[in-house]
Amino acid sequence: MNENVSPDERLRQMIARLKESDNRVTPQRYAVLKVLAHSFEHPSAEDIHAQLLDNFPTMSLATVYKTLALLKQQGEVLELEFSDLCNRYDGNKPYPHPHVICTGCGAIVDPSFQDFAEISQKMMDETGFKIVAHRFDFYGLCPDCQNSE
Ligand code: ZN
Ligand code: MN
Repeated sequence: MNENVSPDERLRQMIARLKESDNRVTPQRYAVLKVLAHSFEHPSAEDIHAQLLDNFPTMSLATVYKTLALLKQQGEVLELEFSDLCNRYDGNKPYPHPHVICTGCGAIVDPSFQDFAEISQKMMDETGFKIVAHRFDFYGLCPDCQNSE
C-alpha cells in the first residue's frame, strides 16, 4: 500500500478505477484527475478549479467537487478535513499517511518518513482494535514562514 508511484502511473490508476466502476472519464474529469496526480501541494477544490479555468473556462467548481467525491468513494484520493482550513486533497498517496502542516501559510508536505506500521501495530496490541486507518498531522511553521517572522 505504501508504494511510491509516478504521477503518470497514478493518473492511469485513477482512470482505470473509474472505468472499472462504470464511471465515464469526461475531458473535464480527466483534467481534474491529472491535476491531482501531478500535485504535491495537497490542493483544495478551489486550487484545482483555479488551475483548470484557463483550459476549461466553463468548468464549474461543482464539477471539481463531484469528481473529488467520486474519487473519494473509489478510494483514489485522500481527503484531509480541517476545521479552520478548506479541505485539501492528496491524489498521489490515496492511503493514510502523515502530514506536516504550516499554520502560517497552509502549506502541507508529505515527510519522507512514512513508516507508521509499527505504531499501528502497537495500538492494535494495546487496544485489541483492528486499526484500518490513521491520521497524523504535525503542525508548525514552514521555512518560508519562519523567515518572514
Ligand atoms: Zn508557511
Ligand atoms: Mn499527502
